[in-house]
Amino acid sequence: MTPPCIICVAITGSVPGKQNNPAVPITVAEQIESTQEAFEAGAAIVHAHVRNDDGTPSSDPEKFARLKEGLARHCPGMIIQFSTGGRSGAGKARGGMLPLAPDMASLSVGSNNFPSRVYENPPDLVDWLASGMQAHNVKPEIEAFDLSHIFQAAKMHADGRITDTPYVQFVMGVKNAMPVDRAVFDFYVATVRRLFGKDVPWCAAGIGPHQLTLNQWAVAAGGHARTGLEDNVRLDRETLAPSNAALVRRVVGICEQNARPVASCDQARRILGLRPGKSGPP
Ligand SMILES: [Zn+2]
Repeated sequence: MTPPCIICVAITGSVPGKQNNPAVPITVAEQIESTQEAFEAGAAIVHAHVRNDDGTPSSDPEKFARLKEGLARHCPGMIIQFSTGGRSGAGKARGGMLPLAPDMASLSVGSNNFPSRVYENPPDLVDWLASGMQAHNVKPEIEAFDLSHIFQAAKMHADGRITDTPYVQFVMGVKNAMPVDRAVFDFYVATVRRLFGKDVPWCAAGIGPHQLTLNQWAVAAGGHARTGLEDNVRLDRETLAPSNAALVRRVVGICEQNARPVASCDQARRILGLRPGKSGPP
């Protein structure tokens, strides 16, 4: 049987705002509502940042706590992944929500350029975030903006800084970082299989119009897919995505075309080696 595809919805991010697409959820209440709709459409993971009410990025643990509580109530069993990405806070503020023990957190293990700045992930901060994830039983998702990040994850796994087999997400199409390139994508897939085992789960994300391309490539190649308004606010050049759920439904359609079932939350938890959700099996 073809393995189920886990759909991750990145609902908000730290960049897009209402001026880009009014459907981008900003307040915690909007985030919970948008996630519930995406969950009902087939998303098993929610990747979340939090914002101040004026739309500026925040890393306030109290907002993350309210979001986690609301998601647990309205999206039972859904895998909650918080971002420790660099835009939402400086230094250790990026990991201030880890004591809330979400199921997962994103972890960038190296630096690279972003559209207008350096995305700084100095070694000591990476190690501090990784140790916080271990302490609170949070599974990292490795954000691979570059090939070297996959090898760094392997090193951290080998020396115990990452406990589980790394779950790597390839990120392509960020301006000034790795472009969308099929040969590189294939090499990424071959590399995670070589380093972590041929059946290791992996995921891919594309930015802007490349979101659709990476969704298609990942689903067809047996990987898992990330979508959502954080990475892309449009369905096509002329059409804004009406919701996060609409982008999830687009991936569900790609799964159908590729004869891949969409993973339930319980299936996704088993694939990723996570603790069962509260509504899941014992
Ligand atoms: Zn993010």
